[in-house]
Amino acid sequence: MTNILISGASVAGTATAYWLRRHGFTVTVVERAPEIRKGGYKVDIRGAALTVIERMGLLRAVRAHSTEMTIATNYDARGRVMATMDADLFGGRHKDDAEIMRGDLTELLYELTRDEVEYVFDDSITAIGEDGTVTFERSAPRRFDYVVGADGVHSNVRKLAFGEEKQFARDLGYQIAIATVPNHLGLDREEAVHLAPGRTANVYSTKQDGDAKALFMWSGEQDVHEAFAGVGWEVPKLLEAVRQSDDFYRDTLTQIHMDSWSKGRVVLVGDAGYCASPASGQGTSLALVGAYVLAGELAGGSLDGYEREMRHFVEENQKLGPTNIKGIVLASAGMIWFQLKMIKLLPRLPWKDAMIDRIAGGIGRAANAISLKNYVE
Ligand SMILES: Cc1cc2nc3c(=O)[nH]c(=O)nc-3n(C[C@H](O)[C@H](O)[C@H](O)COP(=O)(O)OP(=O)(O)OC[C@H]3O[C@@H](n4cnc5c(N)ncnc54)[C@H](O)[C@@H]3O)c2cc1C
Repeated sequence: MTNILISGASVAGTATAYWLRRHGFTVTVVERAPEIRKGGYKVDIRGAALTVIERMGLLRAVRAHSTEMTIATNYDARGRVMATMDADLFGGRHKDDAEIMRGDLTELLYELTRDEVEYVFDDSITAIGEDGTVTFERSAPRRFDYVVGADGVHSNVRKLAFGEEKQFARDLGYQIAIATVPNHLGLDREEAVHLAPGRTANVYSTKQDGDAKALFMWSGEQDVHEAFAGVGWEVPKLLEAVRQSDDFYRDTLTQIHMDSWSKGRVVLVGDAGYCASPASGQGTSLALVGAYVLAGELAGGSLDGYEREMRHFVEENQKLGPTNIKGIVLASAGMIWFQLKMIKLLPRLPWKDAMIDRIAGGIGRAANAISLKNYVE
């Protein structure tokens, strides 16, 4: 019996656990948090990843948890409506794509696997020996045939097996912060956006969430309060709410680029191996497809196949990050003016379809840049 340890119980970890079980492996998942991390922000599932969700039998459940976002509205510094846009187009979604809160997706994946997979919470790997002996912060040492790092962009397994993060990290030059805040604007399945040069503030509320999420992205290295000091619209109120929030998250927008995702008996999946950054909008889909391909190729007896099948798909999706962020955080007042004008004019433009394809087409093509083998009949 092949024993596999997965580090991380978010999207990549739980999905990999599912597919490894389907191929008959014995699976243990170790997660640093005391339980499955609920909540989070909204994430998209597109293209090949929807096929993976369908093959897991989860499509209906994912659709039932849809955020059902309807509209995105841009406001100026004084709170005047500058432009509105269909929420799917704003998020680069085609009509079949799904959007769900990350916590809801992880919970669905956890429920699907919890009876057949051993989950160990509140623990973390401290060392991985060449013979497969793994030591933990709390649990007793155990031997595994493979160790899968599904522990995110700042992966612990990557550090232990491949070395320091800085060798693989590509800083895109932007910061992201997100926090749950009271829905003081009364948003109902909608997003509200304010653009200032080099700074974008967004607040949204989904069908699944009575609260709202305040999301900030900006260029440079300042913290969110410094970067947004003096910005108008609802920003001062949102910053104050962020101070009170208990789930504030902030990180540098970083991608992970590696020549190989496996070394000996250790292999990486999802953000741990090939984070495309939240700006790509494809991190969740990469994790789901990576989980499916990794398990299928491992069942076929080779990690080389995983590298071969995934490389092009990963590269195409990683290209989206640096490009998209320049359209999310606009560098100058002139660019903001132009973008808002375009959004306003869009419905009346003769080349409307070409414009929409420019906005959503690239991500759609990247999301489908792999033909999935049928590993499980
Ligand atoms: C603010 C934000 C917005 C995003 N928006 C989008 C979006 O719109 N669309 C999209 O597709 N993607 C989005 N993403 C990216 C998406 O969340 C990830 O790409 C996706 O969740 C896949 O991640 P993962 O499972 O590989 O890693 P993660 O979701 O980061 O999970 C890593 C897991 O490993 C655990 N862990 C960490 N260290 C250890 C350790 N030492 N031991 C054990 N466990 C550990 C963590 O607790 C966590 O559960 C966004 C990300 C962020 C941060």
